[in-house]
Amino acid sequence: MNRVYNFSAGPSMLPLPVLEKAASELCCYGDSGMSVMEMSHRSPAYEAIIAEAQALIRELMNIPDNYKVLFLQGGASTQFAAVPLNLMNKNHKADYIVSGQFSKKAWKEAQKYGDAKCIASSEDKNNTYIPQITRADIRPDADYVHVCFNNTIYGTKFNYIPDTGDIPLVADMSSCIMSEPVDVTKFSVIYAGAQKNIAPAGLTIVIVREDLLGQSRADIPVMLDWKTQADNDSMYNTPPCYPIYMAKLVFEWIKELGGLEAMKAYNIKKCKVLYDYLDNQSYYIAPVEKEYRSMMNVTFVTGDADLDKKFAKEADAAGFKNIKGHRSVGGMRASIYNAMPIEGVEKLIAFMDAFAKNNPKNA
Ligand SMILES: *Cc1c(COP(=O)(O)O)cnc(C)c1O
Repeated sequence: MNRVYNFSAGPSMLPLPVLEKAASELCCYGDSGMSVMEMSHRSPAYEAIIAEAQALIRELMNIPDNYKVLFLQGGASTQFAAVPLNLMNKNHKADYIVSGQFSKKAWKEAQKYGDAKCIASSEDKNNTYIPQITRADIRPDADYVHVCFNNTIYGTKFNYIPDTGDIPLVADMSSCIMSEPVDVTKFSVIYAGAQKNIAPAGLTIVIVREDLLGQSRADIPVMLDWKTQADNDSMYNTPPCYPIYMAKLVFEWIKELGGLEAMKAYNIKKCKVLYDYLDNQSYYIAPVEKEYRSMMNVTFVTGDADLDKKFAKEADAAGFKNIKGHRSVGGMRASIYNAMPIEGVEKLIAFMDAFAKNNPKNA
């Protein structure tokens, strides 16, 4: 077995012990005589799996009892519509901070359902920073405020939690969920596609404060109604059974490491070696303003599109996969989610250094 370092932004690496455990019970889970993939979602064996996944995410993220955790399908992108359909139903207004492509997509989707306003944007500097907003920027009658907490494509992260007062704060945390502890009580809704930090694609996590359930528009598709999903323990229809099982294994892995504080310490250590390297040389440029740097997605360029291309190609051949930046921004992006070991980052730095020496820029 020759596993590469996969720097993909998502789907991305899963912890090897998790894959090995899944492999060991792939064909026969416990004494059930069947794979988790073949089980009825209403069977006692599966009910134990989903209950354990629920209990573990609550424990690890310290989620208070007045929040529901939903295991849904459709990806974070489906929540771009579900959020307004569930919440934009009092004053039909919502405020969006647009700090990258996913928040822009979310904002565009919400415009279909009401008055969705972009109250701050970082597009003026190619999303290399996070706009700072205060209560004064928020419309007092907004039904909610939406943020994308970690911008996967640009490699920026909120370094503060916007104070929205009594107005619900909704956060897309697809690319940073469980990378560190967050104070869930500061948010009304947190949602995330699982394929970056939690599980294979197919599972979407929604964490929603209970008092926000039951306010949805009458014409909401039943599958998007958080209340329906909450009332049915995410089993209104068949849930994404296997990704939920994989999420449970990942949660167990995080717990074994020492929980989210330990995960955070490891992630800080990991991204620090890379940022320290970037800050102490002049070949590569890291475009993101320092205080908004993401722990999970590290972007850099050589300043020469041809060299960037060569870098991505040679990195790939050397076993550093998917390091090419998003097609819309170019350059490079090393996504170093929870499952990326620090050795992967250290070896990448050695590769970067050698590449810089072997490919001098014509000044
Ligand atoms: C990947 C990603 C999305 C899109 O997720 P899907 O599950 O593919 O819909 C949305 N928001 C953020 C921040 C992401 O990183």
